[in-house]
Amino acid sequence: MGLKSRSSNCVEDIIVYLPGKPVEELERELGLKETIKLASNENPLGPSPLAVEAIKKGFSDLNRYPDGSGFYLKKALSEFHSLNDENFILGNGTNEVLEIIAHAFLDPTDSVVFSEGAFVVYQIVSQLSCSKMSISPMKNYTHDLEDISKRVNEKTKIIFLANPNNPTGTSFGELELLKLLEEVPKNILVVVDEAYCHFVTDENYPKTLDLMQEYHNLIVLRTFSKVYGLAALRIGYGIAHHEIISILSKVREPFNVNSLALLAAEDALKDDAHVERSVASNLEGRDFLVRELTSLGIPFVPTQGNFMMVDVSDGSLVYDLLLKRGVIVRPVAGYGFPSHIRVSIGTLEENRRFVKDLKEVLK
Ligand SMILES: *Cc1c(COP(=O)(O)O)cnc(C)c1O
Repeated sequence: MGLKSRSSNCVEDIIVYLPGKPVEELERELGLKETIKLASNENPLGPSPLAVEAIKKGFSDLNRYPDGSGFYLKKALSEFHSLNDENFILGNGTNEVLEIIAHAFLDPTDSVVFSEGAFVVYQIVSQLSCSKMSISPMKNYTHDLEDISKRVNEKTKIIFLANPNNPTGTSFGELELLKLLEEVPKNILVVVDEAYCHFVTDENYPKTLDLMQEYHNLIVLRTFSKVYGLAALRIGYGIAHHEIISILSKVREPFNVNSLALLAAEDALKDDAHVERSVASNLEGRDFLVRELTSLGIPFVPTQGNFMMVDVSDGSLVYDLLLKRGVIVRPVAGYGFPSHIRVSIGTLEENRRFVKDLKEVLK
């Protein structure tokens, strides 16, 4: 029909994000039982029970549009973070907040800086805005903040940083971030995506919300998809100076976050017990994997997140072999790591199963 060539030039270049098949379908195709999914860094303990309870209150109002302002959740967030309502923007997942940021700030003549092995959505949203990209090589699996800072020029509008980064699990500290914030002009947005902040144990982890008081060009992103266990509901948020938030608000669709997600997030935020349980379980799982992989002599990248990159020599082969055994992990060749797989830290039982099958596959 000749319609293919009619798509926007920038959209033409975008590589479609390929999610895995539904677990039920995989089980059917491969004749598997008892598969375990360690592919998307989800909370293996499930959703916050308080959030599940809260959603039930929303069922009878499904005929109504959601509260488009997210009034109660923003109020809860502003108390939780000791900030004001006007410092928050809610999104249909942090992914949507990233898209809103790109849409609101980027023109085709602008340039964006991020790392080669950074979360793939930074590239997608930059391409959607037809912007140029300056891609910084990673150093020892970590964002090279010095190189990133050197790449900034008069065309640069946004720097995207994931801390910890997905898929590498590495993080940077407060001093490194401060140096970058000092070096780059104050009219360049520095977006720090903290989807995994709850799992970090490095004591040098930046206190970005404090830094924001001085650096008004800082945007911090958080999500309910990871430690709170609400990935299915799609809800995340951005925190920034109110001037940035009011620009972002022009781009946000009026009812972008659904009412069940709003209710769930509000109560998940209060569920300290679930957060503590989830963090403790993750630390235990992290220690277990470190111990087991070390004793098996399998190299891995030390992680600050709820997932880990393991060096298996041939990532896509080992991914396939594990899949046939019903252990679903993520190949990361697309991020520039062809010899690794990324495995989410699961329950103790899931972690044991992963190590056992990995050991057999690598034999
Ligand atoms: C999982 C993840 C998110 C969360 O995205 P949602 O759209 O909120 O589910 C954000 N950033 C990174 C780096 C992630 O890995």
